Amino acid sequence: MDEFALIERFFRRTPRRPQTRLGIGDDCALLRLPADRVLAVTMDTLVAGVHFFPDVDPEALGHKVLAVNLSDLAAVGAEPVWGFLALTLPRVDTDWLERFAGGLFELAGRYRVDLAGGDTTRGPLTVTLQASGWVPERQALKRSGARPGDGIYLSGWLGDAGLGLKMLQGEVTWRDPDTVARLLRPEPRVELGLALRGLAHACIDVSDGLAADLHHLLNASGVGGTIEWEALPLSPAMRRYLTEGGDWRLPLQAGEDYELCFTMPPWREADLERRLPSGGVAWHRIGTIEKQDGLRITKGEKVTALPAVGYRHF
Ligand code: ADP
Ligand code: MG
Repeated sequence: MDEFALIERFFRRTPRRPQTRLGIGDDCALLRLPADRVLAVTMDTLVAGVHFFPDVDPEALGHKVLAVNLSDLAAVGAEPVWGFLALTLPRVDTDWLERFAGGLFELAGRYRVDLAGGDTTRGPLTVTLQASGWVPERQALKRSGARPGDGIYLSGWLGDAGLGLKMLQGEVTWRDPDTVARLLRPEPRVELGLALRGLAHACIDVSDGLAADLHHLLNASGVGGTIEWEALPLSPAMRRYLTEGGDWRLPLQAGEDYELCFTMPPWREADLERRLPSGGVAWHRIGTIEKQDGLRITKGEKVTALPAVGYRHF
């Protein structure tokens, strides 16, 4: 099967959005933007052996490469609309491609994301996806808007993806399928990102660990903050890990949670509750934005500086 047959068979689908004027099949896609929106664009690469095990379930990989990008769009409050896929494959394995496309399009369909183009090459297994969407410019959430007095909030459970990785690596000897799934099939917090428009002062998605990513938000905003250990949302699996002598820094430093960390005045909490469908993702207040720069954590009476340690590529 050549490259063109491969694209035709696995990746070309009828666009769902009227704004996709021209999708896969020509030299460029032609896309239309509503007049009152700006384009939000992001890209993430997953490399075999670095970001995923080479024998990973291709269906989960297809889901994840889109999910991590939709997480970035959620963090700016954008509605996801388009995806562009650069696929580097060592060989054509139709069964693998079928399942990879299945995982990708299942998530794409849920949010009406049109795969509008890409590139296909031979080489070591690498998948890159560029996702884009739109947001009213004045409602776009940035890292830079946090103000002293804001609460610091976090969605979902903290650090479960990192705990899932330890389970896969055998560093943790027991297995919890939900925790492993948090690593392999993260859920982008799209609805939460949309609900935060006009409510949150600042937002970031947690991909490199809470300590590292919250530092980015604080630095961009020119503020500091304190989080409370007791307020961190830890899953039953994480509590078990910690009770059995696990490293307490794991939830703070492990990456790949793809949860949203945001700040807003605490009196806005009721507004956010009203906007979010019940049964959606939970969110918790974990701390407070302060004038004094740096990030601190309280554990009981004790206050400790929390350094910006997290996942680094280099
Ligand atoms: P060109 O040589 O003009 O860059 P290609 O032959 O690379 O075009 O691609 C043909 C069409 O298929 C283009 O519309 C391109 O965007 C699309 N395409 C190529 N690879 C992929 C892929 N992996 N996923 C989605 N679309 C793809
Ligand atoms: Mg061309």
